[in-house]
Amino acid sequence: MLFEKLNIIEPILKAIKKEGYKSPTPIQEQAIPVLLEGRDLVGLAQTGTGKTAAFAIPILQHIYTEQNNKKETKVIKALILAPTRELAIQIEESFTAYGRHLGLKNAAIFGGVSQNPQVNTLKSGVDILIATPGRLLDLIHQKHISLENIKFFVLDEADRMLDMGLGHDVKKIIAKLPENRQTMLFSATMPKEISKLIDSILVKPIKVEVAPVSSTTDTIKQFAYYVDKKNKKALLIHLLKDKNIESALVFSRTKHGANKITRDLIKAGIEAQAIHGNKSQTARQLALKNFKEKKLRVLVATDIAARGIDVNELSHVINFDLPDVPETYVHRIGRTGRAGAEGIAITFCDEEERASFKGVEKTIGKAISIIDNHPFVNKN
Ligand code: AMP
Repeated sequence: MLFEKLNIIEPILKAIKKEGYKSPTPIQEQAIPVLLEGRDLVGLAQTGTGKTAAFAIPILQHIYTEQNNKKETKVIKALILAPTRELAIQIEESFTAYGRHLGLKNAAIFGGVSQNPQVNTLKSGVDILIATPGRLLDLIHQKHISLENIKFFVLDEADRMLDMGLGHDVKKIIAKLPENRQTMLFSATMPKEISKLIDSILVKPIKVEVAPVSSTTDTIKQFAYYVDKKNKKALLIHLLKDKNIESALVFSRTKHGANKITRDLIKAGIEAQAIHGNKSQTARQLALKNFKEKKLRVLVATDIAARGIDVNELSHVINFDLPDVPETYVHRIGRTGRAGAEGIAITFCDEEERASFKGVEKTIGKAISIIDNHPFVNKN
């Protein structure tokens, strides 16, 4: 299958080519034609499936072709709601990349930073707005944003949005949208609240489903190390001495843990940085930028801080701690093995974590290979 077969206009095809994409991912193949027809869509898909391009390309194409007919001034015509600032920034980068030849304007707004530069950008005119719910509501209340011209609305990572307690804000925003619009909702899982939301905000949606959360992509090789809690640090240092690990995202359950792991790595001569909620927005963005540009090899993150991290060619995800819920494991390791690239996920499991580990295997529906030829093996 080629992008050319999807009725995508030439300037967008050119931009996709520049991104180096050779063929559409399954969700793109299924969603793009439906969205170009103007239908509502529910995408059951997790990060790493190419879902951003699946909604960004049709939105860009609609706005570009309609604008050419009418010469509309820059008013906000598309709204994309994302749960975190990192994800909002990444979505905006995708719109900028795919829309590079269209002359449309995108902006991302999110909390945790001064609103003034965002307000200035809004004043200069924006076609496509990517926002986290809290900051969006603030700016609507201050009358810096009007949603009355929205024709395209995307709710991305809807399940996380609800998990993070943003459901109330999301509903307030939806109540302000014009009824006549195209709505797209993406979610990795489909709990009851999401099905209810879908029934209330989408009109006869087409459902597209790829790689449900319980199935980890086959391109990711998964391994586990049984290790005593006190030896996890030494094991991590031991593994990271292997230069075949080009880039590693290390997950820690807590902020404190992330700081400690980072300090220990640095002491052992392995350059690393931590990102979590206590770090300033600027420090987080800088660490992320360095990591993406391969100037930083090891990034240590908590689950919340890592939401939406999108790094091409990330070779390794290392679970220093097992997450509390198995679905989080699937989200974590989905950071590697993206869009067909091969990735490796390594999980450390101490005795207290054995039950969670079994839970993960049950969720993904397969056994994870145990590596037992390492210096810190725990044979219990
Ligand atoms: P997403 O699921 O939207 O977070 O996208 C995951 C990653 O896949 C991003 O880094 C995209 O740049 C990349 N990607 C999206 N579509 C394609 C494609 N058709 N071919 C190759 N890579 C892609």
